[in-house]
Amino acid sequence: MHVLILGGTTEARALAALLHPETRVTSSLAGRVASPRLPVGEVRIGGFGGADGLAAWVREHHVDAVIDATHPFAENISFNAARAAATAHVPLLALRRPGWVPVEGDRWHSAASLEEAAALLDGLGERVFLTTGRMGLAAFADCPQWFLVRSVDAPESPMPDRTEVLLDRGPFTLDGERDLLHRYGIDVLVTKDSGGAATAPKLRAAREAGIPVVIVRRPPVPEGVETAASPEGAAAWVHGLAEG
Ligand code: NAP
Repeated sequence: MHVLILGGTTEARALAALLHPETRVTSSLAGRVASPRLPVGEVRIGGFGGADGLAAWVREHHVDAVIDATHPFAENISFNAARAAATAHVPLLALRRPGWVPVEGDRWHSAASLEEAAALLDGLGERVFLTTGRMGLAAFADCPQWFLVRSVDAPESPMPDRTEVLLDRGPFTLDGERDLLHRYGIDVLVTKDSGGAATAPKLRAAREAGIPVVIVRRPPVPEGVETAASPEGAAAWVHGLAEG
């Protein structure tokens, strides 16, 4: 069997490690990060050229199954994967780690988009810790607040006038997040509902400090696509295909 994993996440790397070398695995990365963490197995980097390009790649490389293990907010590639799998007649599974759930003491404000998150900031705080990634900062460009932007690679304009950039990559520790909120005088946090443990400590640190959190909701998984919540669940799906 040849499995194509659309990756760029911790879960995608974990899945490649669960399947390789018994199953032939190719992981695909978009090429956004300058020095990405590479999974085991074969790796290809760069876009496919839309759903048709992805379907052509699948056929040309005799892919038997596709797993969309991209980030929950990588909406375009997930849509393309659904279309390409239907065109190329290969099974598709979406691997989506569960979203975060608020607990007592959390002061969460839900937003449908980055734009809505930006609009919610007025009245919530003046010093914003923005952890939504380096793409999409334009949504905050007209905000009057001061921003601490944390991202893996340097963001590009447009971005808010008053911005300090912190280049860093998870996993992050609770002590580190507590210290950061205190050191920068943060009074509001903005995050996507990415889920997972690697970036969750900021939520607990915000709760402890009584800081409100604007949390951007996930886009839906394309209609009709089967999902698994963990790399183990996705590996079981592959093994089921191999046996069936
Ligand atoms: P996106 O908007 O859904 O995708 C834009 C285009 O990038 C796609 O149409 C595709 O180009 C290419 N692409 C995306 N993921 C790819 C992959 N795994 N392999 C090959 N091409 C891919 O994606 P995005 O939000 O920019 O995210 C890009 C990558 O970063 C994803 O792989 C994702 O897992 C990772 N990531 C994203 C976030 C986030 O918050 N969005 C956070 C952490 C990691 P073509 O149409 O030319 O094929």
